Amino acid sequence: METAEIRRRFVAHFERHGHTVVPSASLLLDDPNLLFVNAGMVPFKPYFLGQETPQWDRATSVQKCVRTLDIEEVGKTTRHGTFFQMCGNFSFGDYFKEGAIRFAWELVTGSQDDGGYGFDPEKIWVTVLPSDTEAKQLWHEIAGLPYERIQERGLEDNYWNMGVPGPGGPCSEIYIDRGPEYGPDGGPNADEDRFLEIWNLVFMQESLSTVRSKADFDVEGPLPAKNIDTGMGLERVAYLLQGKDNLYEIDEVFPVIEKASELTGRAYGANAEDDVRFRVVADHVRSALMLINDGVTPGNEARGYVLRRLLRRAVRSMRLLGYDGHALRELMPVSRDRMKLSYPEVETGWERISRVAYAEEETFRKTLEAGTQIFDNAAASVKQSGGSVLQGAQAFALHDTYGFPIDLTLEMASEAGLSVDEAGFRALMAEQRERAKADAKSKKGQHADTGVYRGILDEHGPTDWLAYETLETESR
Ligand code: ATP
Ligand code: MG
Ligand code: MG
Ligand code: MG
Repeated sequence: METAEIRRRFVAHFERHGHTVVPSASLLLDDPNLLFVNAGMVPFKPYFLGQETPQWDRATSVQKCVRTLDIEEVGKTTRHGTFFQMCGNFSFGDYFKEGAIRFAWELVTGSQDDGGYGFDPEKIWVTVLPSDTEAKQLWHEIAGLPYERIQERGLEDNYWNMGVPGPGGPCSEIYIDRGPEYGPDGGPNADEDRFLEIWNLVFMQESLSTVRSKADFDVEGPLPAKNIDTGMGLERVAYLLQGKDNLYEIDEVFPVIEKASELTGRAYGANAEDDVRFRVVADHVRSALMLINDGVTPGNEARGYVLRRLLRRAVRSMRLLGYDGHALRELMPVSRDRMKLSYPEVETGWERISRVAYAEEETFRKTLEAGTQIFDNAAASVKQSGGSVLQGAQAFALHDTYGFPIDLTLEMASEAGLSVDEAGFRALMAEQRERAKADAKSKKGQHADTGVYRGILDEHGPTDWLAYETLETESR
């Protein structure tokens, strides 16, 4: 079943059950805690909190999502994309646990001839919060699931909150058993690759005053109403229904891998290391396409830096696969032609999108040209002297003189079997920041703020990818 058809069936199912279809919001919704929209509920947050009243009490959407937290997982697990689409149904004080479970079960197990996905009920497992005996009972009664396939999981997995004060509640997740060839038996608690999470049902019912971590928070009191927020991973259902092993092999993504394989002359499926690179390429090209489509341009801060990193990682992965040409010119149009079926604006806006992407590749080629030789020399001399650590000063010089962001140096060092003295690098960055501050002070009245700004940029900005992770809170 094509991804577009899976999406269509989701929406049709919930429309049939009285839900209003709400189009996806932009990835760039304004929320101070989020870099990008990372879950279907984000655009509906004010309704859950009772700050605004929706025009409907039931809604459904297929929301574009980006999760930078998952970037390191891409290609290594079978199930994480940086861009993905979350299908959701929402109840604002209307139906609650029973309705959510009933609707989800009907769609997941309903016959394919009847608009459902046709999953075998015997292969389905669910998880609930240990204290949520109500959900457990409902799964048993409505779906007829035996208690062995209703597993308990702690707050970390089965309580949803935003990572900041706001709405929250227990949740229940649906998993599909992919079979013994994917791992040991024993349900999602035993193996999350064999037992693939496809859908999270959140019973959003309380307001949290303090959130120290996902599993450590204070409940302030009940929300004005009991709500439902669910998220089904479109791509995850697609790879199951298309009989593929992973998310990168579905109809919306795989053509980029095929093109990359043609360009590099290397086969996909021949070597595990290459396969991860092929998947990174396909994932990142698609995510970059969708981010530029929503108005992001490459830069050294926040959103722009995420885009820059995705584009550069795609280009570099192609180089590691042996292709030195202009990779994005070859690959982006392939991704566009798949994504335009659901997002026609990637075609109508193509002129601008391609201009942005190709210019970034050009800039990056120049950076690589200037810095790679320097990096290689530094790495060779470390090895010659029997060492295994690239000095902070060398990483700093690459950054300062050749525009090598630290994560690129870290990646290249790790490929060369070296580590990097990151503390030394950061100390030098801090020194430079101090100098810039002093400089800005002495020039006060001219460009008084730029030094301070630069300091913030250096501290939280382009040189420290991890800094962004703190900006983004995983949604569930
Ligand atoms: P996982 O445990 O696999 O990382 P999650 O629990 O973080 O998933 P949720 O926050 O519950 O995911 O999101 C709801 C649904 O969205 C998931 O059940 C899954 O189907 C899908 N999903 C989440 N993250 C991704 C991703 N990075 N790529 C593709 N689909 C995803
Ligand atoms: Mg996750
Ligand atoms: Mg999970
Ligand atoms: Mg989940």
